[in-house]
Amino acid sequence: MTRAGILEGLGLLGAAKTHTLHAPTTALIAKLAPHLESHEIAGLLTDARDSKIVSFIGPGVLIRGAEHVYVLTKQQGVLQLQWTGVFRRKESFHYTVLPSNWKQADYEYRERAANYAAVHYGNQLQWDDSRECVTWFFMYASGPREVRAAYRRTWAEMLQLANGRCPFLQVLDAQLCAATLHYTVGAEIFGDRASRLVRVCGNCGGGIDADGCTYCHTLYTSASVVDSNTPAHLHLLEEVGLFDKFNVSPINAIKVHYAKWAADSVRQPTRQVPHDRVITFSGET
Ligand SMILES: [Zn+2]
Repeated sequence: MTRAGILEGLGLLGAAKTHTLHAPTTALIAKLAPHLESHEIAGLLTDARDSKIVSFIGPGVLIRGAEHVYVLTKQQGVLQLQWTGVFRRKESFHYTVLPSNWKQADYEYRERAANYAAVHYGNQLQWDDSRECVTWFFMYASGPREVRAAYRRTWAEMLQLANGRCPFLQVLDAQLCAATLHYTVGAEIFGDRASRLVRVCGNCGGGIDADGCTYCHTLYTSASVVDSNTPAHLHLLEEVGLFDKFNVSPINAIKVHYAKWAADSVRQPTRQVPHDRVITFSGET
């Protein structure tokens, strides 16, 4: 329940363009930072009403040791709550950069958020063992929908792994660590790393190249995002609940991707006769 509450609050902040909500309620802050006592939340609100800039942290929902940072300010007489990003504790992964202005006293305070997450829903948290972050853009007429995903290997390693032995999509499927539709939750799995950008068709889940969707041939004009001609993979679609949200089942585009791989003559192993099995006849030159 608690994790669901944090998710709900993060979803609200992530959906807002500037990640800011006006006139935040005590209940919302209690959802985002369930480790805080009610008198502590009241104290935060009082300080913010006194025109102080108040920041507090809340536990993550996906990655062990991730902490969301929120700021309460008063602007033109109205309180505003802003989500400013995610910090990662040292143990959560090796890319962590701790902000230089954290003081020793802050660590105890941070410990409470991490402990709360570990005690209340620790079995739903995972260690970050990902090496490649990918933002998938599902293209719709109304605009792209972003899915943030992390994989255990880099794109180059995954291509190398697939090289001739299996379809690339199969490796992507197997290497997925985490995926989310939430921008704010995505920050937990990305940390401070840049992400690879991939567009896929919002109609059928097919890969996109310069001529549009490679399966249903829908045209996409925006060239601001890299195309990789890679359809969305099953594990990703299931993880974020998008599998049955297409007009055309994504299974079709996936099947075609696999069929193309199987039909690619370049990848067919050349049949070679072992030397010791070559029979030669005397008299033959
Ligand atoms: Zn398509």
